[in-house]
Amino acid sequence: MTPTDVLDALETHHPNADTELHFRNAFELLVATVLSAQSTDARVNEVTPALFARYPDPKALARADLAELETQIHSTGFFRQKARALVGLATELLETHHGTVPADMDALVALPGVGRKTANVVLGHALGVPGLPVDRHVLRVANRLGLVTSDDPVKVEHALGALFPPERWTRASDALILHGRRICKPKPLCDRCLARPGCHYYVSGGAVIKAGRGAQKASKTPKARARR
Ligand code: SF4
Repeated sequence: MTPTDVLDALETHHPNADTELHFRNAFELLVATVLSAQSTDARVNEVTPALFARYPDPKALARADLAELETQIHSTGFFRQKARALVGLATELLETHHGTVPADMDALVALPGVGRKTANVVLGHALGVPGLPVDRHVLRVANRLGLVTSDDPVKVEHALGALFPPERWTRASDALILHGRRICKPKPLCDRCLARPGCHYYVSGGAVIKAGRGAQKASKTPKARARR
């Protein structure tokens, strides 16, 4: 299987792969993605309806009372850091970008609390700019498949970006993430995987070795070093 065949197989597995965060515009997705660091999309989706009602735009969020904001986002974890980052990025959006979310990687990563992964999520899902977010699932699955050989999120982003055309980047990331959550878990369910014939880990016997040795082999995957 070529890399394109492998991606086709993943997209067949997960035809509706998309971000699971709920949002109506780029500002809301930016806020939700910042909140999703060290949390789950489901947990963030519980918090954001009330949050977006209270702070519908950068102007409102920039004026937020930190203690109140911390209470609202408490359940997503790291709430003090996140509250400061959200007020900081809203202030920066107002002062530097006229209250809009810039469709530009460099401008996005200059915002407080925003790393390449968050920037790529927002670019690809809300701003129509190709973006390839790399999280721990993308790192694990892409390495097992043999599409990349690195645990550095930025290197993996560029390596995957070189394998696929820009118009497929965002869905490639979404499909890899869903595959990592549902099938190519830390303990992979290879018998259910359509990408098996093209999978380096499977073809090289990783799954068989793992079956004999418990989860040891499966755990030898890149560490989750992706920054939000
Ligand atoms: S064959 Fe197994 S290790 Fe390879 S991508 Fe599929 S689930 Fe993951």
